Amino acid sequence: MTEKVVVALGGNAILQSGQEGTFEEQMENVQSTAMQIVRMLEAGYEVVVTHGNGPQVGAILIQNEAGSNLVPPMPMDVCGAESQGMIGYMLCQALKNCMLGKKLKGWEPCCVVTQVEVDPDDPAFVNPTKPVGPFYTAEEAEKRMIEKGEVWIEDSGRGWRRVVPSPDPKHIVEIEGIRHLFDERFLVIACGGGGIPVIKKKDGTYQGVEAVIDKDLAGERLAQEVGADIFMILTDVPKVAINFKKPSEKWLDVVTPEELRAYEAEGHFKTGSMEPKVKAVIRFIENGGKRAIIAKLDSALEALKGETGTQIVSVKEKSSIL
Ligand code: ADP
Ligand code: MG
Repeated sequence: MTEKVVVALGGNAILQSGQEGTFEEQMENVQSTAMQIVRMLEAGYEVVVTHGNGPQVGAILIQNEAGSNLVPPMPMDVCGAESQGMIGYMLCQALKNCMLGKKLKGWEPCCVVTQVEVDPDDPAFVNPTKPVGPFYTAEEAEKRMIEKGEVWIEDSGRGWRRVVPSPDPKHIVEIEGIRHLFDERFLVIACGGGGIPVIKKKDGTYQGVEAVIDKDLAGERLAQEVGADIFMILTDVPKVAINFKKPSEKWLDVVTPEELRAYEAEGHFKTGSMEPKVKAVIRFIENGGKRAIIAKLDSALEALKGETGTQIVSVKEKSSIL
């Protein structure tokens, strides 16, 4: 039986830590990422891809600010859309090049600029937490807080940074199109950077908002809404650990949502990095998904086969495996 997989690519799939962020660096990383995806297709998995955009949208925000004396800066939702186009372009080209000469039963990469609906009453809107864009001095931050009503915080001694709301993803606006493309064997790249956050107004119209949706939580929505069997989050660690980086560190192999919830309550997963991934995989299984995986990018196919990575399954499924 062919299995449908939604793959959420982490930051390292596009930019490695310590790199400057040139186009050449990013393209080189994207090429090895594309190879991992093609390996999954060759093994017979049906794949939908999503990805992060942190460093890329950060750079676009800086470019907008720096050029604001020459051309009007764009709002954050537009910057998010630009980052989806840029990363989608790189991924599509790298995938197409990587598929050359391979028999892949007609898979054709394509990118969907994706809006994701959030609830205007989401509590995140009164408590912005997600740092975005460049670092500034206290004076500049204060000016922006007064003039634009933005929220800025001191970011661990590195300077002042704007924080925006990080609301929960509710629904993928372009889901119908994504489903059709997938059914026609298009290798869809969607919901980049967690999607462009939009709210639906009372009259039924959509409007972009200044916010950032977590890409792992948006990936879970995408996986649910396309009816994926497997939701796989690829990052830069081989598995989820408890007591991470402590002498008692233990890497998790097969876990249930209940077990992860208990570890989460004990504070094993860092806010903003592993915590949203754990939340996303718990949701996927509790919403009826078959299997979720958190694994390292370069062992994606092995993780799909269940040979590595942290595998998240229901209690019933776990008792049948062990
Ligand atoms: P991505 O771009 O893939 O979303 P993140 O940096 O957001 O990457 O999340 C991955 C990071 O989570 C790892 O590099 C690791 O340092 C960190 N992390 C925090 N807690 C844990 C944990 N309990 N187990 C494994 N990794 C953890
Ligand atoms: Mg992350």
